[in-house]
Amino acid sequence: MDPSPHPLSQFVLKVHSRCDLACDHCYVYEHADQSWRGRPAVISGEVLDLTARRIAEHARAHRLDTVHVVLHGGEPLLAGRERLRLTAQGLRTALSGVSALDLRIHTNGVTLDEKFCELFAEFDIKVGISLDGDRAANDLHRRYRNGRSSHARVLRAIALLDSPRYRHLFAGLLCTIDLRNDPVTVYDALAELAPPRIDFLLPHATWDEPPPRPDGTDSATPYGDWLLRVHDRWTAAGRPMGVRVLDSVLRTLRGASSLTESLGLAPVELAVIETDGALEQADSLKTAYDGAPGTGMNVRSHSLDEMAVHPGVVARQLGLDGLCETCRGCPVVRSCGGGLYAHRYRSGSGDSGGDGGGDGGGDGRFMNPSVYCADLKQLITGIRDREALRTPMPQLPLDDLHFDEIAAGFGGSEAVEPLARHELTVNRELLAAVWHESAHSATGTAAWDTLAVLDAEAPESVDAVLAHPYLRPWAQRALRGDEQAGRIAMRGVAELAAAALLRSGRAGTVTVPTGSGVLRLPTLGALVVGDAGEARVTGGADEGFSVRVGDREHIVGHKSGADPAWLARRRFELPGWAVALEDTDPWRDAHGYPVRARLSPAAAEEWRGDLAAAWEWIRRELPGYAPGIAAGLSVVTPLLEASAGADISSAARDAFGAVGLARPGTPQTLACLLVHEFQHVKLGAVLDLTDLYDPACEQLFYAPWRPDPRPLEGLLQGTYAHIAVVDYWRARRRTASRAEAHDTEVRFARWREQTAEAVDTLLGSGALTALGVRFVTAMGETVATRLTDPVGPDALAEARRMAGDHKGRAVVEDRP
Ligand code: SF4
Ligand code: SF4
Repeated sequence: MDPSPHPLSQFVLKVHSRCDLACDHCYVYEHADQSWRGRPAVISGEVLDLTARRIAEHARAHRLDTVHVVLHGGEPLLAGRERLRLTAQGLRTALSGVSALDLRIHTNGVTLDEKFCELFAEFDIKVGISLDGDRAANDLHRRYRNGRSSHARVLRAIALLDSPRYRHLFAGLLCTIDLRNDPVTVYDALAELAPPRIDFLLPHATWDEPPPRPDGTDSATPYGDWLLRVHDRWTAAGRPMGVRVLDSVLRTLRGASSLTESLGLAPVELAVIETDGALEQADSLKTAYDGAPGTGMNVRSHSLDEMAVHPGVVARQLGLDGLCETCRGCPVVRSCGGGLYAHRYRSGSGDSGGDGGGDGGGDGRFMNPSVYCADLKQLITGIRDREALRTPMPQLPLDDLHFDEIAAGFGGSEAVEPLARHELTVNRELLAAVWHESAHSATGTAAWDTLAVLDAEAPESVDAVLAHPYLRPWAQRALRGDEQAGRIAMRGVAELAAAALLRSGRAGTVTVPTGSGVLRLPTLGALVVGDAGEARVTGGADEGFSVRVGDREHIVGHKSGADPAWLARRRFELPGWAVALEDTDPWRDAHGYPVRARLSPAAAEEWRGDLAAAWEWIRRELPGYAPGIAAGLSVVTPLLEASAGADISSAARDAFGAVGLARPGTPQTLACLLVHEFQHVKLGAVLDLTDLYDPACEQLFYAPWRPDPRPLEGLLQGTYAHIAVVDYWRARRRTASRAEAHDTEVRFARWREQTAEAVDTLLGSGALTALGVRFVTAMGETVATRLTDPVGPDALAEARRMAGDHKGRAVVEDRP
């Protein structure tokens, strides 16, 4: 890769290299890099002049709108007013007519007075002040060399900046986190000073020198927890000022840019100019090793264009490509960006790519996740989860109440019917796409016209046909654009038109091309037509409907039923649930398992009996699931039984309203498979409505019941389906005979634990959207109530052993 560097637009100008405080957490004096010792205390006029010229030259060449310069140290006020005036004047003059100048100073504030403020007002220099909280918190580190507190002087400086004359110069407060300080107390102390912005900084640390963790800290993410408590306090107060780190997380979660180089993937465009003119990388690198920020360049001899192509600078401009493999695969990487570059340092982690490396050619010792990785993930997912609860529902055709009902694992007719209506809309759009993208045959055009008339005059008949679960597999095939697609498209349109015509009871004729010796009439059945190329379907006859194939006329339908060529789809009217057995539609082969051929009347009758018994059991024992099934499950497609006798069931992602099942041994097992698979049907429809997870997430996750890691949707689907499995075993346990009692208790215990574990994996994935967090949280709440059911210690132990044994077996071998 040949990276093209970004121009530099942010400059930290060291005007004084010494300080009047002796903070023990100072990265300038107390960390690995000790280069300050060899530098002049004050920047010279020559270096100032060269710096201004270099910046202006770079800004002109790259047509920068704005150049940002922070006057820094050590303590920049020690440079004195005259040197600061020269600096500001030099920069303003050099950049006049070239770029706007955003000039700031960052100071400890202890010597800030009105004269400095007047100077800053004259040159519009914004002032940021370091303060670590209330006096106790600030005194932990920010003291004079003799140990005296600096707190009172800093407050005096802030009061000056807060006065009406200078308030416009007040840029904000900068606070370095110390876990020994209570986050709320620190936040309150800072917020009381009404700064326009607060910046919380993680103490600089590396994998070699990890961040301090006070004794007694048992959280794995104490810094993330600390910042989340600040977040909660800040949010409860109405977010009265900007908090850079929190605003950056919120912005990056929305896809916007970060406000700090310590988060996000935006290229870093920063250079440091030391008092001797040395061009260096970010100060934070001083924490890594002695000389780490150095580039060997100096404003005397090098342009900023040369600085911009230094490998260390380029390495921080590569976005995702500049990160290690772990970060690149991390679900929160777009917010985190691997954290601050310096915090990734680990000596000995390789000079050529660390743990897999990007292709940026950067220093391999920085190709690691941040030493704050767990904390950053905790902070980002914590804020995202909290935002989810604040986020109003997007405009869905499903209100809050019914969304939450579905999310909890259930959903009655009022929740499921909007899903079905949306699926119908999707099918209509697909049909329109098929029509618009296909070459039209004469029969196809005539059929389309019939459909259009019926849609205006008898829309319920068109809706009934277009809601057919296997419309979508047909449409997807027809849209593939290959040689056969056009023929498949025209035949399908004619089949749909013929079926809608027959359902409407209206007079008319549709000519339908036939395939594989069968005329397909979606939702009605199929007619065996031999090798005839087409059939003329005529509706409106009292005695049924007529299909003319060549010279032969079949009279089929409700009043005849005797024509042996007619394979009517069987429909069972069970109490409160009408369900069809689909064994004729060729597009039903969408479930990933072989389908059964046309069932004999006796086999169909056995299915009817089993479905009736299973339905009765569901209504009695799982009443929370019955209304949804009645509203949304219209088709059961018989699948071939497995030779080993294992239960087989499947819901196709693109066949709303249908489940495929091999007829199991008992109606109770059929009940379990029905509720389990209908969960997939519901969730698939919700996912058609809205994103519950980041579709760009490529990470794989383990479900507790499978040996293979799966994409997030697979885990989400499995977990949602297992809520119903938990409830099935809960009901089985409740109704068990003495002989079954132990076994059912064990299975209930096993599935509830594993489902709860999977919910935790989902919530910790970092890949859920705000709505996804809300959805999975509701799933977890349902599972949590199941976890309160008492289970005996023996059953629990066996369940855990069983769960361990079953890790590594595919679910089809291990159906409950
Ligand atoms: S005031 Fe800033 S530069 Fe000075 S010792 Fe403290 S942290 Fe270091
Ligand atoms: S959270 Fe950790 S793994 Fe993810 S991007 Fe940040 S540092 Fe890398």
